[in-house]
Amino acid sequence: MQTTLIHLPSTPRHQVIAAIVAVLSIAAAVLVWPYAKDPGPVIAPFLPVFATWVTLTEGLTALLLWTQYAVSGRLLFAALSGAYAFTSVIAGIQLLVFPGVFSPAGLLGAGPQTAVWIWVFWHGGFPALVTASLLARSVPLNLGRRAKGRFAVIGAVALAVALCALATAGQSHLPPVVAQSGSYTQLSSSPAAIIVEALCLAALGLHVSTTRLRSLMDLWLAVALLSALIDVTLTLSAGARYSVGWYAARVASMVSSSAVLGMLIYETTGLYRRLSEAHRTLIETAARDGLTGVFNRAYFDDRFPRDFVFASASGQPLCVLLIDVDHFKQYNDTFGHLAGDDCLRQVAGALSKALRRQSDFVARYGGEEFVVVLPACEAAAGLRVGESLRSAVEQLGIPSAASSGAPVTVSVGLACTFPTPPGSAPALLGLADVALYRAKARGRNRVVDAAELADHETMAKTGTAKHRFGH
Ligand code: GH3
Ligand code: MG
Ligand code: MG
Repeated sequence: MQTTLIHLPSTPRHQVIAAIVAVLSIAAAVLVWPYAKDPGPVIAPFLPVFATWVTLTEGLTALLLWTQYAVSGRLLFAALSGAYAFTSVIAGIQLLVFPGVFSPAGLLGAGPQTAVWIWVFWHGGFPALVTASLLARSVPLNLGRRAKGRFAVIGAVALAVALCALATAGQSHLPPVVAQSGSYTQLSSSPAAIIVEALCLAALGLHVSTTRLRSLMDLWLAVALLSALIDVTLTLSAGARYSVGWYAARVASMVSSSAVLGMLIYETTGLYRRLSEAHRTLIETAARDGLTGVFNRAYFDDRFPRDFVFASASGQPLCVLLIDVDHFKQYNDTFGHLAGDDCLRQVAGALSKALRRQSDFVARYGGEEFVVVLPACEAAAGLRVGESLRSAVEQLGIPSAASSGAPVTVSVGLACTFPTPPGSAPALLGLADVALYRAKARGRNRVVDAAELADHETMAKTGTAKHRFGH
């Protein structure tokens, strides 16, 4: 079972949803394009909401990608986690320095160029880091673990902080990209804008051509890169803050920041479901006997004492039956062990089929011996079930090794907690064992109830059947 998302192939369903998101994003961008420069209303809370959204979604994506790295050891996840951590940090800082949000000029000693330069670093840095992560794909697993992915994240965050420091404390060293009026026209024709646009285009192109969008992760990363490209293109064509294009670009940016997170959350939920199913199957398999498919001894040892305690506590009767194939050594000696195995499978199948109630179960006790537990069942009914089990095996008509050509049969020993309840689950099983040996002694192919043996209590106390309990 896959436990990391990079291995999940992109399913047709995801491809359709991703294609719809991509087409709608492109269509929306084309529709908005002619009005991009039109001034829109100045909605003051929009920017804080937008920046908080991006900071949180990118931060969460970084965290989830980090857990994917921790599980898989693939350096790619650490590298991508770094790219998202970079964006989360830089978007958070941009909010602090944005003029008019926390203070008229912005915090952290921001100048008029600061927010725009941070925008340049953010929108150039993300595609650059995603492209750099392509290199991490080919790093072998063992090397990936040793390379300590945390340095990828620490490095990316340090880069974000350093670039923000440059845009604030070192702003005088950066060429001006925005006019006093807040117009971006200067930025749009600057080399910085060309580089950012080129980085977005190159990242998308390289990502699609290299990965071919085979995995879910790659598919949604492509959506994120496409939305980032639309974001940059619209921002640059908008020319000014709070214009129609500027708002549309921010929406594209939100799509970009949420694409991978949405997939991760959706798939993580699916992963949990598959994991719990696999766990259930594992538990079920671990409880089964490999040869016969009925429950195994470990399951019986775990469940029988609990059924016994429950029956005692609730005052309900409980029956246990020990079933042993007659003359099985001879069967093996005559037909071989493979035929013997097949015979055991058939016997187990017949025993299982003969049980009616959900709470009844059959387990392989060991060798050619089976045990059946019948909760909430009185001795008389237990005897009837014992008889039906015996007859079910006989009815199989498996030719035995006997010269008479008689079918393979079983002997059954029954013990019930009523009317004389023994003190413990092993004591009850001991009684069934004694009854089984009495059935053998009486000629086999029969059911004997321990209750009909006058001396059963004495025998149980003296531990006639001790060999069954660890001796
Ligand atoms: P009785 O009627 O007294 O029970 O005689 P028996 O021959 O059945 O009893 P015994 O205990 O002497 O022999 C049991 C045989 O069951 C011996 C062993 O080789 C065989 N056996 C135990 N487990 C397996 C198994 O998994 N496969 C096969 N083929 N034989 C098994
Ligand atoms: Mg035996
Ligand atoms: Mg036997």
